[in-house]
Amino acid sequence: MSLPEAFKERLEKIVPHERFDTIIKTFDAPKQVTFRVNTLKSTASELEAELTREGIAFERVGWLEGVYRISPDDKLRLTQTEAFYGGRLYIQNLSSMIAPVLLDPKPDETVLDLAAAPGGKTLILASMMHNTGWLSAVEPSRERFFRLCDNLKHQGVTNAHTYMTDGRSVGKKCPLMFDRILLDAPCSSEARFKTFDEKSTSYWSIHKVKETSKLQRRLLLSAYDALKPGGKLLYSTCSFSPEENESPLQHLLERHGDHLKTLPLILPFDNVQKPLTRWGKEVYDERIRNAVRILPTDTIDGFFICLLEKLP
Ligand code: SAM
Repeated sequence: MSLPEAFKERLEKIVPHERFDTIIKTFDAPKQVTFRVNTLKSTASELEAELTREGIAFERVGWLEGVYRISPDDKLRLTQTEAFYGGRLYIQNLSSMIAPVLLDPKPDETVLDLAAAPGGKTLILASMMHNTGWLSAVEPSRERFFRLCDNLKHQGVTNAHTYMTDGRSVGKKCPLMFDRILLDAPCSSEARFKTFDEKSTSYWSIHKVKETSKLQRRLLLSAYDALKPGGKLLYSTCSFSPEENESPLQHLLERHGDHLKTLPLILPFDNVQKPLTRWGKEVYDERIRNAVRILPTDTIDGFFICLLEKLP
């Protein structure tokens, strides 16, 4: 199976020309498996000792404490360990781990995860908050909501309050309430495409990208309303399309730009690209240049991240 032609044509216009061929190849093979210690239940050294006893060969990911990689061939064995059953480790792609780490929630803060299921990032938020403060996790899809609740329980999260509701309504219901908000937005998941998995591309179309962009704009406005002055908002997607990344941010800045700034992001690897300055007829606000587009490799999924601060 091959990637949709329209997707490839667009991607060629988005990513740096010299990296296009390498990036296209990353869709053909399974990524290395990465996982992290759940610090609510264990520590890096305890988990390392436990996995070593069980004969699992892992490698540390140097730039994130308590994060490891293994070959995709060993994934099944990892999911059969006591540590996995006991919720002491969580399998997650590196780009997904980076978003909550960059948002950097502190213990005792009031934090909102506005599109939370299945909860991989909520778990990191809870760990960073040491299970203190108030963590709201919102998810409207019933099935995904219950998966989120199960995950939080299994991983020992006790500071989360879960809401099966539409994130677009939260800003009006809870204005100026949160110190930090993560909006890991519903997206067309282009960075999760796999040429060996037909289902991964089957829902994609340019129409879908544009529809999703409208939802993302409304979720961003809702997040803005829910954010306290001085609070931080992290917007992320696992799509490449500017309609889902730069455009919703542009829309937000056009409405509330006088009260927002973006913050520069420094990532410890070089497979990153600055956001686009324009796409089609749109010319993007200079502040969006602080965001980053993570380019996929054999280990890390493509991702887009922007960190904003609401001015006091
Ligand atoms: N942050 C999650 C994690 O790390 O596990 C992944 C979130 S996923 C990219 C986006 C989620 O947004 C999906 O679970 C989807 O059901 C949810 N979603 C869709 N429409 C939504 C809406 N109107 N408000 C809030 N969440 C929505």
